Amino acid sequence: MDETLKTELVRQGTEELQNKDAWFPRDSNGRSFSKDWFYIHLDNGETMLRTWLVFSPVNNAAYCFPCMLFQKAKWKSSFGKSSGFNAWRKLSPRLLEHERSSYHLSAFTIWKELEMRLHKQETIDAAAQLAQQMSFEKWKAILVRILDCILYLARQTLPIRGHSEDLNTDGNCGNFLETFKLLAKYDPVAKQHLHRVQRTDGYIVSYLSPQSQDEFINLLGDHIRTVIFQNIIKAKYFAIMFDSTPDISHTDQMSQVIRYVQIEDSGVHVTESFIDFIQLYRKSADVITKQICDKLQADGLKLEHCYGQGYDNAATMAGHISGVQKRILDMNPKAISTHRWDILKKHVPIRVKRSCNTRWSSTHEAVCVLAEHTEKIIDALEALRDGPEETSETGERRVGRRKKMDGENSCDAGLTLIQETSREQLEAIDQLQAEIKKRTTQMNTLHQRFAFLQIQTLLDTKKDDFIKKQIQHTCAQYPELNAASMLTEITRLRDHIILYKEVNPDEQVANWSALDLLRWVYKWKLQESLTNFVVTLRIFLTITVSTASCERSFSKLKRIKTYQRSTMSQERLSNLAILSIERDFNVDFNSVVEKFALIKSRRI
Ligand SMILES: [Zn+2]
Repeated sequence: MDETLKTELVRQGTEELQNKDAWFPRDSNGRSFSKDWFYIHLDNGETMLRTWLVFSPVNNAAYCFPCMLFQKAKWKSSFGKSSGFNAWRKLSPRLLEHERSSYHLSAFTIWKELEMRLHKQETIDAAAQLAQQMSFEKWKAILVRILDCILYLARQTLPIRGHSEDLNTDGNCGNFLETFKLLAKYDPVAKQHLHRVQRTDGYIVSYLSPQSQDEFINLLGDHIRTVIFQNIIKAKYFAIMFDSTPDISHTDQMSQVIRYVQIEDSGVHVTESFIDFIQLYRKSADVITKQICDKLQADGLKLEHCYGQGYDNAATMAGHISGVQKRILDMNPKAISTHRWDILKKHVPIRVKRSCNTRWSSTHEAVCVLAEHTEKIIDALEALRDGPEETSETGERRVGRRKKMDGENSCDAGLTLIQETSREQLEAIDQLQAEIKKRTTQMNTLHQRFAFLQIQTLLDTKKDDFIKKQIQHTCAQYPELNAASMLTEITRLRDHIILYKEVNPDEQVANWSALDLLRWVYKWKLQESLTNFVVTLRIFLTITVSTASCERSFSKLKRIKTYQRSTMSQERLSNLAILSIERDFNVDFNSVVEKFALIKSRRI
């Protein structure tokens, strides 16, 4: 019997091997083993278990556990042999004799010694495990504090590193270490950690070094991005928004924003999430298109689920942008593009009306707004043209023209102020016309597919023909939609809404937006009876790119990549940007720490 087996048997103990409750067969003399033999009968009437005695029902024999394992060969008694003891007639004297024999007592002692050693070992192992666990909990507590400090600084777009990172000098050691020191003034965990690091003068792992800071920034950024991708995949449909601007080191940074409709227990939200800054090296349509497609693939997002594309600033990618749009549309015909009205809206005090091709009066209103606010719209267009996002190419063109307008050019010398002003106005109006035309075309596409989603249209039975026609058109564009089912759903929806209006007469149903409508459907859990309609609403809300998310990211870019911090890596820039832009994101520190521990353990 080898040592490992012996150790294992000792570890398991004899209780299972004893077979105290077995059936004991009779021998030819009519005698058998009995349960009684497992017990020592004390004089005071009590009994005590013989733990060394085991019975094998297979061999119909009794054995001594320690003697089987540890008895020296020259001492072998029947209880220690493989055949065992089965002379039941002689059991009574032999058992007592064996129990008191020196060789049994010796084997018994060896057994008990080993048992004690094993028990002790287990205790040591358990203690080591506990210590390890406690040490992990301790480090987790420290790491969470470090991560929170970094997250705080990133959200405030404050620089993280300092010129000196020496904790033992009195000078300023950068925002991160100074924040951690501040925390340590009040928090015992941070205090203890800082104290140890200072005392050992950096000879222990502190996770406070610039390298660790970088690692944590990237971990936090990746964490947020991973959760966002999960949400996008859950939403299925998404729209991409790309826009670029030169950064402080004159590198063109393309901002990637994704729009999607989140449906959760907490409600329905249209979300535009910043994902990354991507460096643009060459501004040609094919290169940009490839960069965008590669990026989506790397993100695990399928182009076939991309139903909308928006490129905020036409000037940014100059003429190439139409090329990018067209190429992506060729790859996925559902990825229709929409254009932002925000820059127009920013400059015009009242809303530029949408041109609506079903009502001539609305077209009239739209034109009136343009007529009344021509100057402001021109300002808006100039802002579009002269915005900071412009490429150097368009920038040069502008400078050239401005010089001419200053009268430096000989052929301009004779122009009067009025002539010059009117020429400038005409130029602006030309641009205005081009911009309006582009937006109107895009609006029309949207309108042709989704106008029936407007609540007034939906509720108007006089528009049934229009609705029917449009649904057929829309369902032809999106094969996942079924026109016949959609029509019955619309009838059902009308009933639902009419009933709702009766119960809630104060509710301004007629003013509901598409998002209000979708929220209402989910609030009252009507989605299962309106499956096609719900998908249409989701698609519509996904593709109507309308907010200034890319621009929001540019303002962060300017605050993150400053003159002092102009050399930072692209990864760091992107991650700092996502931390500050997605500042309301609920970071799960536990999962970040676990990921960190996993990376560390792989390296060892
Ligand atoms: Zn024995």
